[in-house]
Amino acid sequence: MLTIAWDVDDVLNDLMYSWYHSKWLVEKPTKSVRYEHLVENPPHNILGTSAEEYLKSLDEFRLSDKYESMGPNKEVLKWFDEYGEHCRHIVLTSVPLNCAHISASWVVRHFGKWVRSFNFIPSSRTGVVIPLFDKTKSDFLQWLNNVDVFIEDNETNYKGAKALGIKTLLVDRPWNTSRLSMNDVLTKLTKMIEKETE
Ligand SMILES: [Mg+2]
Repeated sequence: MLTIAWDVDDVLNDLMYSWYHSKWLVEKPTKSVRYEHLVENPPHNILGTSAEEYLKSLDEFRLSDKYESMGPNKEVLKWFDEYGEHCRHIVLTSVPLNCAHISASWVVRHFGKWVRSFNFIPSSRTGVVIPLFDKTKSDFLQWLNNVDVFIEDNETNYKGAKALGIKTLLVDRPWNTSRLSMNDVLTKLTKMIEKETE
């Protein structure tokens, strides 16, 4: 049985879209920058702000009820409903330590039928000093040594996992160079499952 590792933010959900529309644009309305224009992640330069202000806003979103009430990606949820039982699933996310419990709760609430393991790389935040077991997602994947397929939206994480020989699929988002829509990714996963069970 294949083991699939899923990124959480912007893969199982649409964090950037939700944050941008229900927090950033509400507090700093502009018509000149649309979600599609966020071709860098983090997007602070495009938004004309500092990295610190962007992260502060994103962490506030995570700690408010807005993250908690965000829906799951409907296409992905539908795929899990149909094919989820044919693979093992874990998540691997980068999130600051003080927000990790919210992410874990969100994942288990929406995907706990299938996802049985929540793993995170604590994102660096000023003043937070904690043990560093893994610097990157690929460090973690190498240590775990048990993942067949990895689904990501971050190009650096994608390249790192690929370099380990893990079949990695990069979901098309404005800030990466992928041309694989979520539907393409899910179709590829379905084919992998079918091939494995032939
Ligand atoms: Mg992500």
